[in-house]
Amino acid sequence: RRIVSPKKKKDDNAVDRGLRPDSIADYIGQSKSKEKLKIFIQAARDRQEALDHVLLYGPPGLGKTTLAAIIANELNVNIHQTSGPAIERPGDLASILTNLQPHDVLFIDEIHRLNKMVEEVLYPAMEDYCLDIIIGKGPSARSVRLDLAPFTLVAATTKAGRLSSPLRDRFGVINRLEFYNQAELQEIVVRSARVLDIEIITQGALEIARRSRGTPRIANRLLKRVRDFAEVKADGIINQEVVDSALKLLEIDKLGLDRIDHKLLKTIMLKFSGGPVGLNTLAAAISEETETIEDVYEPYLLQLGFLERTPRGRVATAKAYQHLGIEKK
Ligand code: ADP
Repeated sequence: RRIVSPKKKKDDNAVDRGLRPDSIADYIGQSKSKEKLKIFIQAARDRQEALDHVLLYGPPGLGKTTLAAIIANELNVNIHQTSGPAIERPGDLASILTNLQPHDVLFIDEIHRLNKMVEEVLYPAMEDYCLDIIIGKGPSARSVRLDLAPFTLVAATTKAGRLSSPLRDRFGVINRLEFYNQAELQEIVVRSARVLDIEIITQGALEIARRSRGTPRIANRLLKRVRDFAEVKADGIINQEVVDSALKLLEIDKLGLDRIDHKLLKTIMLKFSGGPVGLNTLAAAISEETETIEDVYEPYLLQLGFLERTPRGRVATAKAYQHLGIEKK
């Protein structure tokens, strides 16, 4: 139950629903992506066409699902939401596609987990808005083409590199979401506090922003936890001191690193003389899966410049030594 994990947890759902901005104007940060999308959305609306297919990629919790819903909102169409692993057979996808209204948005989260057979059905659907269906078996089998309503596929992934190139090539708009800076996260915290009716002082919002690892989902989660603390231990108002004490209790440091981040860095420093150490060895040393290290822990440590990926393995940087107060031998 890691509080600073950017991945979605079950109890995020209720909060997410109320906190998701529903227009581009309310969506904080990501100005490059927003600027592009605004133009494409406007153009599609003016021409009364379906928007080109959109691929959103980047680490978890940065607002891909939120942006997909905003795109549908701004286009004034319905959104149908599913995910790569949920579409097991080609027939599942065919049934989703045939139920779309003209210009609707189909949102597929974790598109990199789509299986090959389903992906093959998606190609003609994306390209020509049609389905090729095989009827019958053996020598009498024949292929029938079924027309679909023009639609927009909005797909999200944390691993753009895993997409096959024929799939990637079929997206007209490809947007990479970036980690948020402190000012943006602060704005998100203030906005969420307003929505949730929480009293927060500017310095308190800034302190939460600092420790949110560039990720709105974590900012919102920390805000919730700190609110509990403020209500029980203080007078309900969140200021810098309250954030400090609450996060100290939760073992989240000034930069948003928790025990596992510390363990990972310290293991490299103390057991492997600062590295390089191979991913598999590191994973075994801290009893984590390699994929979890790559997807969940590393992106923020790399972003902070605390970790480097070299061909021979992971290396802890001087900045990391300094932050942990460990002397490099
Ligand atoms: P992803 O799909 O990339 O994992 P989500 O879209 O589910 O991320 O966003 C996670 C949470 O962060 C949501 O509760 C959402 O309200 C909030 N959020 C994300 N991006 C923004 C943003 N740009 N402005 C305000 N809140 C945001």
